[in-house]
Amino acid sequence: MTKEVRALFLILIITVAPLMIYAFIQVRSLDEDEQMAKAAYEKQLDAVLFSLNQYADDMMNRWMRQLADKQNSLSENVNDLIIGNESIQMIVLRNYKTKEDSIYVNDYVSINDNTYEKVDQWYNTKDSVINRLSEYLEAGFQKIQPADDWMAIEELRPDQTGITVMIYDEDSVLHNALFILERKFWIEQILGLQMQKIDHDEFTIAVGHWQEEGQQWPTILYQTTLFSLKKNFTKTNLWILPNTFLFIQPKGKSYTELIQSRSRDNLYLLLFSVFVVLIGIFLMIRNIKNTLKVAQLKSDFVSNVSHEIRTPLSLIRMYAETLMLGRVPSEEKKKQYYSTIHHESGRLTFLVNNILDFSRIEANRKTYRFEDSDLNILVGRIYENFSHYFTEHHVDCNLKQSQDPLPVFVDTQAFEEALSNLIENAVKYRNGKNKLDLSTFVSNGYACCSIRDQGIGISKSAQKHIFDKFYRVESALTQKTKGTGLGLSLVKHIMESHQGEVIVESKPNHGSTFTLKFPLTKQHHE
Ligand code: ADP
Repeated sequence: MTKEVRALFLILIITVAPLMIYAFIQVRSLDEDEQMAKAAYEKQLDAVLFSLNQYADDMMNRWMRQLADKQNSLSENVNDLIIGNESIQMIVLRNYKTKEDSIYVNDYVSINDNTYEKVDQWYNTKDSVINRLSEYLEAGFQKIQPADDWMAIEELRPDQTGITVMIYDEDSVLHNALFILERKFWIEQILGLQMQKIDHDEFTIAVGHWQEEGQQWPTILYQTTLFSLKKNFTKTNLWILPNTFLFIQPKGKSYTELIQSRSRDNLYLLLFSVFVVLIGIFLMIRNIKNTLKVAQLKSDFVSNVSHEIRTPLSLIRMYAETLMLGRVPSEEKKKQYYSTIHHESGRLTFLVNNILDFSRIEANRKTYRFEDSDLNILVGRIYENFSHYFTEHHVDCNLKQSQDPLPVFVDTQAFEEALSNLIENAVKYRNGKNKLDLSTFVSNGYACCSIRDQGIGISKSAQKHIFDKFYRVESALTQKTKGTGLGLSLVKHIMESHQGEVIVESKPNHGSTFTLKFPLTKQHHE
């Protein structure tokens, strides 16, 4: 593991790991929270239904108290109940001992002998139930029992459900009372009001039953507002009526759903923060890497510059000393020494100018003095200046100039600096291929100047960086040649200041062509 990877790992562990652990715990607790919220909410719903069931029981007990009112006879009480409650279709009073039935019906019902027979049939299987209810009554508890298996009879309205209870008449004779109710009516009249009261705009409460076995959805008999069987709901048996159920569901979003969506939102926010932190770390690492790289480039630059300065300086010093001591035998040798001193001091000037220019650019203090000129003339002059340099390096540089005049608006000194850098590079990186081509031409409204070498060339990936300050290609050949990595960044800056550009075309081992493009001034178009 490299140092860098280890540092990266450490940063990740310190910053992201706690967030990830927190996110993980959140995801796990999300489910538990939901379960808890759901359980609590269902308990609340159950409590609402429980209170309704109790209310229904209370209402039935009220009837029973009316029935047992000793001020009137039992039959009078039965009649009163039937007159006062339209939902009671029929009440059967069966003498416990004699098993004689008296049947009382509401005025919208008419019965016949058949009715007595059917009632008798129902009682046939009820001995044990009636005995048990009697025992309860003896013990002081009047239990109201749903008549679960009451089969609807034709003489009554079709919607029938029953309850049964034991009761003493005014002469203390034990009777069983069987109430046959119209279920929908009873629910509407007795339960409906109470259901509306506790609905609170918070729940929808409904009563329904399954008419037939295997019926998928219940038939809704009453609802406080529109009840949807497709949404979540809680249900419970209505104690007092067989096969009848109470349903409840929240209006709008349930508490559980609210918790669910809130926890989800929190989780997404958390994941988003993790994501942002990761991006932050990525940017930070990239930044650090760049800073380290620039620091490395700068230190390389310092050693390169020192090296570049030291060589010509020691040459100048050595030749000057030899000349001063008068140890040079012939005039010809003297001339050679002077020329070397001149050449090396020229190199030093070039180098120092480059560095000064660079520092001016960095400080935003580089200024240009533009003037109308002709690119052909400028290139011709520079070519002349370099002739000695070419000979010295055994380079054969061919100049081919455009036939047309190339009017441009340039800082002639800056242009000289740019082209000199390109020519110097072409010579430096020619790799023994001594042929260079210098040319001027017009292309798409630009006056261009190209320098082509057949040297080491530059790979595509390196081409992206050669114009960066301090950058030098990392190859054995480049490292062997002297350089500061400033030349091309200067060229680029100069060209941008002229609204022009510098273009490189190159292939490793096949040479490179650098082209400077200046916008042609109006004179050319006229
Ligand atoms: P240097 O002082 O190193 O020459 P430059 O900024 O002038 O700095 O060039 C940057 C790098 O681009 C050089 O180090 C070299 O690797 C590459 N380069 C520039 N010109 C040429 C060329 N004509 N042929 C091959 N490589 C070149």
